[in-house]
Amino acid sequence: MPGAMLGMLGGGQLGRMFVTAAQEMGYLVTVLDSSPDSPAGRIADDFICANYTDQSALRKISNQCVAVTTEFENISADVLETLSVHCLISPDAISVRTAQNRITEKQFLAANGFAIAPYCVIRHAEDLLTQNVSNYLPGILKVSQFGYDGKGQKRVENVTDLKLAFEALNHSVCVLEKLIPLTLEVSVVVARSATGQVKTYPVSENQHVNGILDISIVPARIPTSLANHAQMTACQIAEKLDYRGVLCVEFFVSTLTNNELLINEIAPRPHNSGHYSLDACITSQFEQQVRTLCGLSLGETTQHTPATMVNVLGDLWHNGKPNWSHVLQHPSAKLHLYGKTEARPGRKMGHFTILNNSLETALQQAITIKNSLNLNQNT
Ligand code: ADP
Ligand code: MG
Repeated sequence: MPGAMLGMLGGGQLGRMFVTAAQEMGYLVTVLDSSPDSPAGRIADDFICANYTDQSALRKISNQCVAVTTEFENISADVLETLSVHCLISPDAISVRTAQNRITEKQFLAANGFAIAPYCVIRHAEDLLTQNVSNYLPGILKVSQFGYDGKGQKRVENVTDLKLAFEALNHSVCVLEKLIPLTLEVSVVVARSATGQVKTYPVSENQHVNGILDISIVPARIPTSLANHAQMTACQIAEKLDYRGVLCVEFFVSTLTNNELLINEIAPRPHNSGHYSLDACITSQFEQQVRTLCGLSLGETTQHTPATMVNVLGDLWHNGKPNWSHVLQHPSAKLHLYGKTEARPGRKMGHFTILNNSLETALQQAITIKNSLNLNQNT
């Protein structure tokens, strides 16, 4: 209940938005992160600056928090398991372990009958000779763990490319995925409570640039039957994992499968493509994370206004600070900056969401503002 101390493993923007949601509801939050100045750490009620594997830091967080969650997909599942002896943890170690490795994730999905892109596993250079790799070319070679925002993956056309890419990825264990001709990408955030109550958010239509989410348009401009299928699939995945918490499923819509859905990946946490829920839904994905963690019933996920969310990347700072007035002067724009001091290309610095009863208007206005931010810096 409000007044209790919650724990957040990870100090990034997802952690920060969780902290804000929790504090608004009257909870206190302890954040653990290795960086002394992190987006979540700087607004937390208590901040522990340490590595995720630091035993005394983990003891401290489990002693002072009744329940602990994470924003960081690559958190060691062993750490979650250890913590679970002392306090409530969600999501649990098994779900995180399954989702954080592309091999176990795909094995889980395939074993449960979910459609995924054709792939093979490349563990050693010899696998490039013995596996029938040409079945998966052209393709994308992805490191099995620790990749994010398009990092740790390379497009490959032929076997020569593949060899070079495997070397460039330092011979890490990889999956080679067939390149899918994409009509669209969509995602669904789903929340599942301790008692098995499940609620999905509306489907988000996602446009990526260089492997990083650029724009989310919600609700996705897809047939209702496809949207229902995406939401149902997300629920089934949460059920199969016996998941507690907030989870996001990313899908490909591809001509390869007659515009049916293929699952790209699962994120065992709130997701960038669900940020629109902060401003456009009755309950945000972060409030929902608080609710699942605290054993509360789930909040309503209904979207009250169509929305377009635009990511603000560090690239915009190349010529000084972006001119925020372009966003702020719009009466239905919501600007969210994450408080990161250093802007680097590709780094997620913030996002903004445009709300409008017409989705097409929201999208057009969002693009106009995005372009003006790109043009007009140095202010
Ligand atoms: P990350 O963990 O970095 O989000 P993803 O596997 O989701 O990695 O890949 C990032 C983006 O790259 C996807 O959203 C999609 O746009 C593109 N992509 C990834 N895999 C494929 C594929 N097999 N075929 C076509 N595009 C892909
Ligand atoms: Mg992804």
